[in-house]
Formats: sequence, structure tokens, C-alpha cells
Amino acid sequence: MNILVTGNLPAAVLSLLQQEHTVEFHAENRPMERSRLMEMVGDKEGLLCMITDRIDDDLLRHAPRLQAIANMAVGYDNIDVEAASRKGIPVSNTPGVLTDATADLAFALILAVARRLVEGDHMTREGGFRFWAPMYFLGHEVSRKTLGIIGLGRIGKAVARRARGFDMKVFYHTRTKLSPEQEKELGATYCDMDILLSRADFVSLHVPLTPDTHHLVGARELAMMRTSAYLINTSRGPVVDEKALLAALEKGTIAGAGLDVYEQEPDLTPGFKNLDNVVLLPHIGSATVETRTRMALKAVENLLAGLRGDRPPDCLNWENVHAGAAGKA
Ligand code: NAP
Repeated sequence: MNILVTGNLPAAVLSLLQQEHTVEFHAENRPMERSRLMEMVGDKEGLLCMITDRIDDDLLRHAPRLQAIANMAVGYDNIDVEAASRKGIPVSNTPGVLTDATADLAFALILAVARRLVEGDHMTREGGFRFWAPMYFLGHEVSRKTLGIIGLGRIGKAVARRARGFDMKVFYHTRTKLSPEQEKELGATYCDMDILLSRADFVSLHVPLTPDTHHLVGARELAMMRTSAYLINTSRGPVVDEKALLAALEKGTIAGAGLDVYEQEPDLTPGFKNLDNVVLLPHIGSATVETRTRMALKAVENLLAGLRGDRPPDCLNWENVHAGAAGKA
């Protein structure tokens, strides 16, 4: 079968696909142009895609032979899964293998904003470090503070586990409350989102991007946060109303933010780069050699299963695919 891989995977992982199929791949370290993707997907049975590829109804119409789609990410807001289901195409993602790397990055952002790491690095490089003094370059302590986690799934839980090492008090909010045993094991207490926002010293977002979570944190929510609190976003940019966040940071109604993701990636809302109390990362939550290799392997495993007609291990729409196929028959 013919497969399109829209990113550059490790050669050893790519060869697993090449052993069984004819593979065309995008070898550059930048996203594939939409027009090229549309053109290349036309004769393919398999698609291994990235979060930077928009897989919508329009693209699927250009890909009449497609039999399986494997996204190399846990988040799949770039894919219209319902449209794929209607066409009988199984879609998969890569959950679990990137949990620790992303949780580490969320914690790195917590430490970076609270202890002014990036600001301190810039100042030191520029020759600004001239003395030690008791009240010089003070940040805020992370240990024993209150962490509010919105979205306590795989990554949210991994952040909660890290917080235990800092003796933090952890509150969480999700639609589904954990069992008392799970809460006890994690040391996390459920609370209403508004209460979480008003109590937390750090608010860390770990929800998927869905119509429900779009602008989950906007002007109203930011106004509920403490003036000493920090917002950490390693989920998806549109979960936060970026203009409202910028206004809150400029007015000082919250203390700072650590961002890995943006509403209009890779563009930044003008204004962020002028602020010292924001740490800005280029969407690198899962960007470690180990994790990206595991993600690539998982995506390949899912794609190969889908092309064999088997249920991909991380299929998101198997039941709907079959319902769609039954509907067509
Ligand atoms: P997950 O295990 O599915 O966890 C998502 C959590 O969000 C669940 O606890 C879910 O619980 C909760 N949730 C969903 N909708 C909600 C809502 N409307 N209000 C409150 N809570 C809600 O996913 P994960 O593996 O932890 O990944 C989370 C997200 O992180 C991904 O979807 C992806 O977008 C992002 N991510 C980013 C990077 C990066 O590079 N920065 C890397 C990996 C992942 P309920 O359904 O019970 O509410």
C-alpha cells in the first residue's frame, strides 16, 4: 500500500513501514504545506500525520483511498474524527508515551516563572550580574504552595505526582471526579473550577482542546486568580483567551505565565515578548529524543494495524467507523 508520512521520523522507525509498504515522507524539519499535503495524499491508503496538519472533510475528499490515519500526538484537535468515521477510516493517537515528558515541561515552566530563570539567564548573559544582595532578583517559592490542575488525565496526574515532591497542596478540576482511593493516592482534592482558580498559586492546564474547552480560561477566569498566581499552559493554545491573558499580565492582575502553546501557532499575540513575567516555549512538551521516538513507533504500530484491517491499539473511533461502514452498506 502507499503511505504518506508528513514529518521526519527516525530512520529505524520509518523502516518498519518501508518493510511492508511504499512510503513517501516529508523529510524537512518544518510542517508540510497544505497544498502539497492535499496533492500527495490523493493516492495513499495510509496517512501518518502531525498536529500541524489539518485533516478535515476537504482533505478527506482528496484522499479517496485512505484506510487509516495515525496522528503522532495525543491531542487530535487537528483531525475531524467524525468526518473520518463517516468515511470508515480509523483514526489513532499516541497516548501515554509522552505523559512524563509533558509533565516535566509543565513543572519546568512552574519553576521557570516562579524563580525567574529565563529573565535571570538573559540578564547574566548581558553582563547584568554584578553582585549578590539580600533583596536582589527575588522570585517566589514553589515548595508548599497550592497547585490547581485543570484536566486531571494522564498528564495532569503526572504533574500532581511531581507536585508531591515539592510538598504542594493539589486541587484539581475535571468533569469526572476521581474515586476517593485515586484522590488519596495522588494527594489531590477535587474542587469547582472557580474555587480552584481563586485558591491556586499555580494553575496548570491539561485538558484536550474541544468545543467545550475553547477559551476555558478567559477574562472572567483570569480575574478570579490571585494577583500572586501564575498560569501554566502546556495543553493547547486556544484553551486560553490569549488577548485576555495578555491584558491580565500587562495590568498585573496575575503574577505571570508559562506557555508552551499559543492560539495561532507559531504566531505570538503581539505584546507577550515584551513582558518579563512570561516564559515562552516553542511547543516542546513532548520534544525529547526518547519520547518522540516512542511516539513515532506508536504511530507506526497504529497505522500498520489499521492498514491490515485490525483495530489500531489507540483507535479513537473504531465503533463509529463500523457504524459508518454499516450505514454505507
Ligand atoms: P487525557 O488523559 O485524556 O486527559 C485529559 C483530561 O482533561 C481528563 O482528565 C478529562 O477528564 C479532562 N477534561 C476534558 N474535557 C474537560 C472539560 N471540559 N473540563 C474539565 N476537564 C476536562 O489527556 P492527556 O494525555 O493528559 O493530554 C492532555 C492534553 O495535553 C492533550 O489533549 C494535548 O492537547 C495536550 N498535550 C500537549 C503537549 C505539548 O507538547 N505541549 C504534549 C502532550 C499533550 P474528564 O473527561 O473527566 O473531564
